[in-house]
Amino acid sequence: MEKTFVMIKPDGVQRRLIGEITSRFEKKGLNIVKAELLQATEDIAKEHYGEHSDKPFFGELVEFITSGPVFAMILSGENAVSVARTLIGETNPASSQPGTIRGDYGLTVGKNIIHGSDAVESAEREISIWF
Ligand code: GDP
Ligand code: MG
Repeated sequence: MEKTFVMIKPDGVQRRLIGEITSRFEKKGLNIVKAELLQATEDIAKEHYGEHSDKPFFGELVEFITSGPVFAMILSGENAVSVARTLIGETNPASSQPGTIRGDYGLTVGKNIIHGSDAVESAEREISIWF
């Protein structure tokens, strides 16, 4: 069964959205295989977002992800990677459809509530970083 890595970012945890968000994945039919409230170190955050290391927002992104606890999860199910991304919505919450997690709870790209792996290979890489 396909696995994906999903992480509720510090803004989502702080706003007490863990229950609401995990409930959406469960209702869709994905299984929570593993879940943990974690404090990301700077090294883990930099490794996780390595592909964005040359972007102007990288420093801000790492600072944000390490600013408080994150709720990291492994979800499994048929097409778990793309199904989770569909439930999550677009990167920018402002252009994310209502009904998606970012569309319903986010407003700015810098604080967009949640992360989901973009491919099976990314999911494997991210799971090995966080768990
Ligand atoms: P994702 O896969 O949908 O999360 O989006 P990306 O992989 O393109 O970007 C990773 C994360 O970087 C996003 O979820 C945002 O939190 C953040 N990010 C992307 N673009 C910007 C930006 O222009 N400004 C800021 N501050 N953060 C950004
Ligand atoms: Mg991405």
